[in-house]
Amino acid sequence: MADSREVIIETQGLTKKYGEKTAVDHLDLSIFRGEIFGLLGPNGAGKTTTTLMLTGLTQPTEGTAFIDGKDCIRCPMEVKKIVGYMPDNVGFYGDMTGRENLRFTASLNGLPRDLAEERIDALLEKTGLSHAGDQRVGTYSRGMRQRLGVADVLIKDPKVIIMDEPTLGIDPEGMRQLLELIRELAKKEGRTLLISSHQLYQIQQICDRVGLFVDGRLMACGTVEELAEQTREDDRYLTEIQVVSGDAHFVEVLKGVDGVLSVGRQENRYIVGSQKENTSALAQAALDNGYSLVSLRPCGNDLDDIYRRYFEKAGHEDGSSNRKAKRFISRNR
Ligand code: ATP
Repeated sequence: MADSREVIIETQGLTKKYGEKTAVDHLDLSIFRGEIFGLLGPNGAGKTTTTLMLTGLTQPTEGTAFIDGKDCIRCPMEVKKIVGYMPDNVGFYGDMTGRENLRFTASLNGLPRDLAEERIDALLEKTGLSHAGDQRVGTYSRGMRQRLGVADVLIKDPKVIIMDEPTLGIDPEGMRQLLELIRELAKKEGRTLLISSHQLYQIQQICDRVGLFVDGRLMACGTVEELAEQTREDDRYLTEIQVVSGDAHFVEVLKGVDGVLSVGRQENRYIVGSQKENTSALAQAALDNGYSLVSLRPCGNDLDDIYRRYFEKAGHEDGSSNRKAKRFISRNR
């Protein structure tokens, strides 16, 4: 069936070489309007180079890139009008207030003063910074700076927002607020977000689809569920079960459930591999045999599991990718 969603960002064969080094290698990417798309990969994968080409900040060696029908390479100024770019370290003037910094951006974008003031008030409120708008940015936490970064990007009311590592160095509460804000920009306001990151867990929570990038190549692209399905090992569905008092008998109980292929045990935690989805049968078997459940959840579907499996596959061909993947995944745990 044809996909009726409207493509707003499209690259074909997009390539960037720095001398001998191919930073981005024939990237074909389609991102839909209103979507939150995560471009994920370890350091040096080519994420930043991709975002720089999309925003017209660097010229590709080959290939094409369009945003909302505008050619990123030939018409970068047209693209800049509709795209907001938030780099990983937004450069604010620390001795100016949040409001003054936003005023400065508004003037650079040629916004009339009245409209600018109105928009700044609304954006400070939207980003939860009304109380801090008149405080010097030098006194802001990293989370507050990132939210001011979002306000800064929104000054020109862009259709598309590209963010480079937005969640880096933010505490859990700051993270929650930022992710909520990003979700709102797409789901309530219909903007399209392309987020480049190596923080798999955080990004997994908000992205509609993700692209997994390694050594300049897009290894896989889809929803987290699709990627989990593509990489499922031996057609195995994994379930993690925790009970109050586990014992060897519980292993036998679980092995007796229809579809179960394997059961691993670490004290009161059991990992069950099944050939089909059978979580309710597993729960029922535990209850019928007098075991009190603490938790029961599908596992093996997190982005870091998926990433590991892709790298392991790629590792058969390329040992260096595999080593890079292991470092990447262990940092994410
Ligand atoms: P990070 O998460 O570290 O920012 P990344 O995925 O964004 O990594 P890029 O910054 O796009 O990766 O870099 C991709 C590759 O291109 C790396 O090997 C990098 O060293 C190389 N590279 C990037 N910019 C340049 C440059 N200006 N000159 C030469 N090589 C570069």
